[in-house]
Amino acid sequence: MEINTVGIIGAGTMGNGIAQACAVSGIRVIMVDVSEAAVAKGVATVAGSLDRLLKKEKITAAERDAALARIMGSTSYDELNSAQLVIEAATENYDLKLRILKQVDALLAPEVIVATNTSSISITKLAAATSRADRFIGMHFFNPVPMMALVEIIRGLRTSDATHDAVHAMAISLGKTPITVKNAPGFVVNRILVPMINEAFFVLAEGLATPEDIDAGMKLGCNQPIGPLALADMVGLDVCLAVMEVYLSEFGDSKYRACPLLKEMVAAGRLGRKTGQGVYRY
Ligand code: NAD
Repeated sequence: MEINTVGIIGAGTMGNGIAQACAVSGIRVIMVDVSEAAVAKGVATVAGSLDRLLKKEKITAAERDAALARIMGSTSYDELNSAQLVIEAATENYDLKLRILKQVDALLAPEVIVATNTSSISITKLAAATSRADRFIGMHFFNPVPMMALVEIIRGLRTSDATHDAVHAMAISLGKTPITVKNAPGFVVNRILVPMINEAFFVLAEGLATPEDIDAGMKLGCNQPIGPLALADMVGLDVCLAVMEVYLSEFGDSKYRACPLLKEMVAAGRLGRKTGQGVYRY
């Protein structure tokens, strides 16, 4: 199946990033959000990002204009009907996603593939809320989408091979590198990454080294572009804690116990860059 039009639900951080990646690759985009203001903000973010690429001479003015012209913003799900693939990238909330998916499932032609960009909700469970579990899949992009090469493609229990193959090929056409993953909490990357960040907090709490030395160790010893504690500050300590708590409850394995120091810092409101202080001060 050729995908030349993609519908995106949610024009926030991930939605507008996915819109940009599609538009730059020649795919038409219909980006839907709840208000005109949210849609306009999403489109303006793409325009600003393309302008920066133009300044760095990564794209031409004609390419910027052509990409922007491929993005149509709307507040109506009805507009999604011309898409072959609809990617849900709305706020991470199970009840909200359920409501959105039921609504678009009833409206879209049967052959349309529906994907979700959720970071933490079961793909199989979301698929079961629709009438198209075989044409439902996870497409987990990484932030910032235009820069990050990886897309995790998550198969729910009932996702068909045809759906997987179409979405896998589409991710490649965006210039991304897809990896195929079975559905489980955290998929692959966050399942490994967040416990590693948690372990860095244990190392810090045990006083084994300073935050700077822990980060330098992981950067220089493991070729990581950023140390785990600095990364926790970027992601948000509250987000890291919430993810560990999901793993602990879903897997029932004490190896996912959140570090008490991480809990303390979250309780104190030291959430990272967004609050001006996490492990480091900003
Ligand atoms: P965000 O808050 O930046 O954007 C969410 C957007 O969804 C908002 O613009 C909001 O108005 C819109 N929205 C809410 N209800 C809606 C509805 N009923 N219909 C249409 N739009 C609606 O959030 P985000 O960071 O872009 O996250 C979106 C999804 O991507 C989440 O599922 C999140 O887990 C996932 N994700 C986020 C990241 C990240 O680093 N931010 C990375 C990977 C995946």
